[in-house]
Amino acid sequence: MTNPSDLLPDLLTRAGSACELCAAQDAAQVYVVGPVPAGVAAADRAILVCEACQEAAADPAAHAAQLRGLQQSAWSEVPAVQVAAYRLLHALSGETWAADLREQLYLDDETLAWAQAELGTGAGSEGVARATVDSNGTVLVDGDSVTLIKDLDVKGAGFTAKRGTLVKNIRLTDDPELIDARVNKIAIVLKTCFLKKAT
Ligand SMILES: [Zn+2]
Repeated sequence: MTNPSDLLPDLLTRAGSACELCAAQDAAQVYVVGPVPAGVAAADRAILVCEACQEAAADPAAHAAQLRGLQQSAWSEVPAVQVAAYRLLHALSGETWAADLREQLYLDDETLAWAQAELGTGAGSEGVARATVDSNGTVLVDGDSVTLIKDLDVKGAGFTAKRGTLVKNIRLTDDPELIDARVNKIAIVLKTCFLKKAT
């Protein structure tokens, strides 16, 4: 795990010292927009914020006024800013402007899956459908091909599906952690944490 402060030079290059949430100058705090999957540049999953926004992000409901800047920054082209904005607006859904703005935002599928990844399923969740993702956090859809990242015993079928096996034409299920697939012509259910999307 990279130390967040190590990301500062990259973020300053991208944002030019302006807070990516409220545009205040002299922003110098790194706000990590997790999770950070292996293979993704950590700076792509972090944003530059000012101290006031750093504080506000920790407890959005108590700092709604500070976060009004989201009305501009939510339209950023930087995916990490879009995701941070989406989550903060979600946390602020008691505020009419925030709820309205979140409805207007358009995130592409991958960014939306990332945004929803850490919203959790606890209190305050609106039962948002979670995306089905592989072991790297890559979104899976019906018809994708995946490879197994470990040997899997196929219970009841009496064989082991070997690591590296290519499984074509998967089908999603209601459970984002499980997919339907056919291996050796046998219909089985696979856990997504043991899969990697094949390209
Ligand atoms: Zn700020």
